[in-house]
Amino acid sequence: MSLKPGVVTGDEYKKLVDAAKAGGYALPAVNVTSTNTLNAVLEAAAKAKSDVIIQLSNSGAQFYAGNGIADGFQAKVIGAVAAAQHAHLVAEHYGICVAMHTDHANKKLIPWVEALIGYSEKHFEKTGRPLFSSHMLDLSEETLEFNLGECARILPRMTKLGMSLEFELGVTGGEEDGVGQDLESIDNSKLYTQPQDVLRAYEKLNKLGHFSIAASFGNVHGVYKPGNVKLRPEILEASQSLVQKTHNTGKNPLHLVFHGGSGSEKEKIHQAVSYGVFKMNIDTDTQFAFSQPIGAYVEKNPKAFKVQVDPDDGTPYKKFYDPRKYLRAAEQGIVERLQEAFADLGSVGKTLVG
Ligand SMILES: [Zn+2]
Repeated sequence: MSLKPGVVTGDEYKKLVDAAKAGGYALPAVNVTSTNTLNAVLEAAAKAKSDVIIQLSNSGAQFYAGNGIADGFQAKVIGAVAAAQHAHLVAEHYGICVAMHTDHANKKLIPWVEALIGYSEKHFEKTGRPLFSSHMLDLSEETLEFNLGECARILPRMTKLGMSLEFELGVTGGEEDGVGQDLESIDNSKLYTQPQDVLRAYEKLNKLGHFSIAASFGNVHGVYKPGNVKLRPEILEASQSLVQKTHNTGKNPLHLVFHGGSGSEKEKIHQAVSYGVFKMNIDTDTQFAFSQPIGAYVEKNPKAFKVQVDPDDGTPYKKFYDPRKYLRAAEQGIVERLQEAFADLGSVGKTLVG
C-alpha cells in the first residue's frame, strides 16, 4: 500500500482516495496562490504525517504567475503549470504525498481546464505522468444536460493520462474568486443535491473514467454568520445508497468532495466523512491564518515599516522589514491552522508514504 513521497497521479491518486474512504478519514484540499502558501501546506502535511491536496483557483493561478502579466488568460494557465511544476520538484522532500488539483471552473473557464490538460499531455509524453492529479469543472449553473455532457466530453481525454475529474451537482452557496452564487438569489432546493441527479451522473460517467462529485448539502463558501443555511450531510448518504441499491455496488460507491469547509461544525464534518467524503476544501480559514500573523508582526514592529533606520537612536530595522520575517510568520500560521484541519478530518499519521 505504501507510496513514494511527492505528487501522486493515476493509480497512486486512486489509492490515496480509496485509502481515505476505507480508513474513514478525508484530506484537506487547500487553495494556494504562491510559493509561500504552497510550501506552508507541504510543511503542515509533513508535520501531521498526512497526505494532502493542493489546489489553485483560476485567479489564484493567475496570481501565482503574476498579476503583471498582460494576458490574464495566459497567466491563469501558466500560473497553474508553474505551481504544479514547483510541487513536482519540491514535494518529495517533505516526505508525504500530494495531489495537485484545480478548483471551480465554470462555463467560461472550460478553455482554461482544456489548456491545462494540454500541458499535462505534453508532460505525459516526456515523463509518463500528467502535471495535475485532477481538475474540477463547475457547470452547476448550467442545465444538468450540459453539465454532464461536458464532463463526458472531457473525461476520456483525462483518463488517457490517468487524471481524475471533479464536478459539481447542486450549488455551493457563497462566492469564491468570482465563481459561485449569491446566497440570497439561489433557489434553496439547489443548495441540496438531488440523489436522482447523482445517479444520472454515475450512469453517464462511471464507464468513462475516475471522477468525484462536489455535492451540495447546505455548504457555503466563506465564513458567514451561522444559521443562514443548514448543513445536512444525510443528503450525501441518500445519494450513496441510491447508487448502491440501483447498481449493486459496495458501500459508498461515490467519491465525494466537501466544498466550503471553512468554519463548519466538527460533528457535521465527521458525518460527511462517514458518507464517503474524501476531500474537504479549505480556503477562507487558511487565508486568515496566513494574514493574521502579518498583522500582529506589523503591530509589534511599526517603525520597521516606516523607516529603514530609526531617526531618534539610529537603530537599523533591516532585520525586521526583511520580508522573510513576516512571511515566515504567515507560513507558520497556515501550518498551525492546518493541524486542526488534519485532526478534524482524521488524517493525522495516515500518510501512505511507507
Ligand atoms: Zn468550492
